[in-house]
Amino acid sequence: MAALELPTAVALRAVRDAAQVCRAVSAGAIRAITKSDQSPVTIADYAAQAVVVHVLTEEFPDAVVVGEESAELLRSDDELCAGVLAATRVVWRDADREAVLAAIDAGARRSTSDRSYWTLDPIDGTKGFLRREQYAVCLARVDGDTPTVAALACPNLAHDLVPGAVSVVGQGSVLVCGAVGPVWRGGIEHSAPLAEVAFADEPGIVAITHSVEAEHTRIDRVHVIAERLGRPVRAIPCDSQAKYALVAQGIAHAYMRIPTRPDRVETVWDHAAGVALATRTGVIVTDLAGKPIDFSSPPGLAANYGILCAHPRVHADFLRELTALGLSAEP
Ligand code: AMP
Ligand code: MG
Repeated sequence: MAALELPTAVALRAVRDAAQVCRAVSAGAIRAITKSDQSPVTIADYAAQAVVVHVLTEEFPDAVVVGEESAELLRSDDELCAGVLAATRVVWRDADREAVLAAIDAGARRSTSDRSYWTLDPIDGTKGFLRREQYAVCLARVDGDTPTVAALACPNLAHDLVPGAVSVVGQGSVLVCGAVGPVWRGGIEHSAPLAEVAFADEPGIVAITHSVEAEHTRIDRVHVIAERLGRPVRAIPCDSQAKYALVAQGIAHAYMRIPTRPDRVETVWDHAAGVALATRTGVIVTDLAGKPIDFSSPPGLAANYGILCAHPRVHADFLRELTALGLSAEP
């Protein structure tokens, strides 16, 4: 394969390192803490953010990083902080408490006037991580209103998926792309070689992936829409941006995110890496009204309502059904 551009190579190293941290934490009992927004967080979320920001800013000291976590809770909980430090040291061996807290907070920017910024979800799908199912370390660089460079590490996803796959569970998969050129995939270990992702399709059926959590998307509506297309449906419930990886590789034809609350605004770190990778393989990603996803005003995707990520052969069909069912805009 051709050499990766520097930002892609650094992003790849960062998410592979963070994935190693997540795996180490996952090997033992995992303590879940509830954040003020009622979402769960673990020491792995914090340690993964510390590691990614450390790797990224070593190479790009001026990088603006809009990441999901901040160190606020850690500063008032010594036991939690010690756990995060120990997990971080799995790969960042000489890390100390202050350096780890500083790295996490350096990745906690909420807004930026820079046209170019990085966005990070250190563990997307924390609920999947807690169930020991799918989760992902997601890093992307946004230029203007579009994510371009992306690295997605999915420690429980198979790296050699082919269309028709019934189980997607495996030893770990990483996908990356640069500002131009193809998408590469490989195993999660640093030594695993990368191969170009060939865009694939499985005609006949409609394979559709959606959140495991009923709170995150209207799963019942997703099924109704798939059935209205009149072809046999295969549902692939999956946590995290691993769903974008499934569509990008032709394992699923579509990923839909239909808000369960009308006021739900999606965040840039929950989509940027996945959107970059899926788009680059020829998949179409829009909101439920068919508008392109606008990443220019972090942290929210305020200009968009829900997500429709679909193979070009079926994107318009899904859009038509969403409109017919009155699901393409806020009720
Ligand atoms: P998924 O694994 O695709 O179900 O999505 C995981 C993401 O859902 C997390 O990163 C959260 O940011 C996000 N999330 C949390 N609450 C909601 C909600 N009520 N609606 C949609 N997404 C949510
Ligand atoms: Mg997330």
